[in-house]
Amino acid sequence: MNISAEIITIGTELLLGSTIDTNSIYLVEKLSEIGIDVYRKASVGDNQKRIVQIILESITRCDVVICTGGLGPTVDDLTRESVAEATNSPLIFYPEVYEKIFERFQQRKIKISENNKKQATFPEGSIIIPNPIGTAPGFIKEYESKFIICLPGVPFELKPMVENTVIPFLSSKFPSSNKLYIKFLKVYGLGESRIDHHLGELLYSSDPTLGLLASPECVKIRIATKSDSPSVAKQKLDDMEAKIKQRLPNIVLPGDDYSLEKEIDKLLLQIDRKLIIVDCSTGGMITFRLTQANSASFLIGSVISTQIFHDNPQIWIDIAKKHMLQFPFAYVIVLHPDIENKETVARILTIDSEEAYKIPFLGTEEKDRIRISVFAIELFRRRLQNITVNL
Ligand code: ATP
Repeated sequence: MNISAEIITIGTELLLGSTIDTNSIYLVEKLSEIGIDVYRKASVGDNQKRIVQIILESITRCDVVICTGGLGPTVDDLTRESVAEATNSPLIFYPEVYEKIFERFQQRKIKISENNKKQATFPEGSIIIPNPIGTAPGFIKEYESKFIICLPGVPFELKPMVENTVIPFLSSKFPSSNKLYIKFLKVYGLGESRIDHHLGELLYSSDPTLGLLASPECVKIRIATKSDSPSVAKQKLDDMEAKIKQRLPNIVLPGDDYSLEKEIDKLLLQIDRKLIIVDCSTGGMITFRLTQANSASFLIGSVISTQIFHDNPQIWIDIAKKHMLQFPFAYVIVLHPDIENKETVARILTIDSEEAYKIPFLGTEEKDRIRISVFAIELFRRRLQNITVNL
């Protein structure tokens, strides 16, 4: 059984752009862990008519609606009134909740206002969600066998309420829902459309599903499946990973925790070699990336202005060779632009070899410098592992 949810973030500040909605990102992650699919999310301002309308629209489509924000004591906090109107239930005063709010104010030696009473009113029949940090509790209102869950907008108040109450509540209501399992893989140095081409019909698989997420750094491949058994899910993800690796041999790398730069460090340590960078293309980014990640392999970064030397790559090769006189067992990566062909050339030199590779990017914007430096690092990985890629 598929359980679906929609998220409504409430507050005019979200529409004006003064607050960035991070609550829904957090909620999507938490719901996916218990197998609940989020199909839509929306933001609405502090206007009761529109809040009622959007809650009614959402609750007719899905099993769970989660609202965040608008639970404060002021006149523009309208979530409780809106849920009451949408579900046609009166707002009821909960004295035991008011007592807790009162105690909290006393502890903090703050005078309670009349409008704080509002924070102890809830649509009739609501289940209260305790708020261990702030004053406003949340609530769950059942409506036509579905659930409208209302939480405060402040992220650090919302999170413990989700973890302590909302997730256990939903897990007990929907125990059989399959959990979502996701595995990420990474491909460097190959564009999204080439990857799409090579994966072909695998991309239409319905279980597991595949998705491509491109960034200047790499293309992430997301493999996802839903199951009530972790071992069945793992098997499905592993089988799909094997098929992907067959289509893209030698270039599919592990997902989130993998660092290409750390891998270079490991490979260099294994063969006890050093690395020198002569960078005339990325303004130091390649050196920065490698030195950030690497602790052990020795690196020298030489950043040279692109403008001065771009006509004569031999100058960079000579610089590289000078370095090599001093460090004969080093690899040298020379990066320089080829302005005529609108590309960057990556040369990998050792004392007795020299290879040149083309990187199809040129430019000084941050995204170009990321693309060029990551591409060059990936070419170097392939060189160190004796991998040839023909894709
Ligand atoms: P309070 O009782 O603290 O007033 P509330 O439920 O009334 O809480 P809002 O007044 O709507 O919540 O929002 C309070 C603050 O929480 C906002 O000013 C904003 O900083 C933050 N906030 C609200 N919604 C979001 C959201 N979707 N993502 C991130 N932060 C949010």
